[in-house]
Amino acid sequence: MTPNTDRNDWLMERARRVIPGGVNSPVRAFRAVGGTPRFVQRAQGPYFWDANGTRYIDYIGSWGPMILGHGHPAVLEAVQKAATEGFSFGAPTEREIELAEAILALRPGTEMLRLVSSGTEAGMTAIRLARGATGRSRIIKFEGCYHGHADALLVKAGSGLATFGNPTSAGVPPEVVQHTLVLEYNNLAQLEQAFAEHGPHIAGLIMEPIAGNMNFVRASVDFTRRCRELCTQHGALLIYDEVMTGFRVALGGAQSVYARSIPGFEPDITVLGKVIGGGMPLAAFGGKRAVMEQLAPLGPVYQAGTLSGNPVATACGLATLREITKPGFFDALTAKTHRLVDGLKAAALKAGVPFAADSEGGMFGFFLLRELPRNYGEVMQSDGARFNTLFHGLLDRGVYIAPALYEAGFVSAAHGEADIAATIDAAAEVFRLL
Ligand code: PMP
Repeated sequence: MTPNTDRNDWLMERARRVIPGGVNSPVRAFRAVGGTPRFVQRAQGPYFWDANGTRYIDYIGSWGPMILGHGHPAVLEAVQKAATEGFSFGAPTEREIELAEAILALRPGTEMLRLVSSGTEAGMTAIRLARGATGRSRIIKFEGCYHGHADALLVKAGSGLATFGNPTSAGVPPEVVQHTLVLEYNNLAQLEQAFAEHGPHIAGLIMEPIAGNMNFVRASVDFTRRCRELCTQHGALLIYDEVMTGFRVALGGAQSVYARSIPGFEPDITVLGKVIGGGMPLAAFGGKRAVMEQLAPLGPVYQAGTLSGNPVATACGLATLREITKPGFFDALTAKTHRLVDGLKAAALKAGVPFAADSEGGMFGFFLLRELPRNYGEVMQSDGARFNTLFHGLLDRGVYIAPALYEAGFVSAAHGEADIAATIDAAAEVFRLL
């Protein structure tokens, strides 16, 4: 079955003339997997339809935000009502307080919150805040974790262990990343070494607790515990980037998942995005009062935004949070995601395809590898050509997964049992071709 991609081709040709690479965010261009991106015409529930009118089961969900699926009636109604009241004021609204209160109610370690418009902005400001609050410059990040495209975070490991990084983008001067140490994820020895060498100068350690930007890789419990201990011991702030995992892997985010194994565990600053905006441009960062009060207008750390706390976005976020805090929501989502992952595993096993997969809440990842990887280097041992065959095989069968092997997948409340079964059937067919 080859879908007719004519109109997608035509739109891509048109797009390339006016938008660099034809897209407004690089991964959408299908560069890794080849072929023509699908231009989305509309979406409903777990599906979207491309420019040819072909339907796909959507496992990207806008890269995480669409946890209720597309066009949830309660969310739609809240957004429509908010839009009639005004798009943007540049003045405070009650709804911003309501959203902040709703988020803080679920995060005991977080006492205050500031709303911004993108995960990039939230991550960038969290770093500035950690530096401002500690009076230090150095930060630790891990290879394979993505925290948005702020200059200081566009950095990869240098050669050798625990070194300062090199920019991963042109236009980022080496001086801008000279304070960013890049370490291997889940590598305890490197972590110890970095704090032993740089401890008194480290402002903060930023990490994805379950990394969703190298597909799906969990930080081990030991690694998580040690990150917390070393930050506390050296006076550095532990920054949890839960833009992807927040309200997605559990109501309390990945930090609540780790708190099951590490009693009392909490980060100092949490960065949020995606689900809290329900698909609208909205993100946030929060932490203890003493840290958050370092922000302008109270403190010396500057941050601002014309569209911050946007009234339509906050309405969308609030309506989304209302749905996902209903009793049983996460249990049902988790069970459904397990069924998908277990079904894929069984199909791969039957076809003799090496396959490892994992999930938490409504977020999952799978690898054409025998074992789950623990870091970026291991993720990148995946066979790219085989992944591309799998990707296109699924796409041809109406199943849309991330067009790159280093991205996670997302299940929504709108995915039905029939969608999960159809996805497993499609994968079983493709596995036989691999
Ligand atoms: N942090 C993480 C963990 C992310 O996954 C992303 C985006 N995928 C970001 C930050 C950046 O968010 P945004 O794209 O909204 O700027």
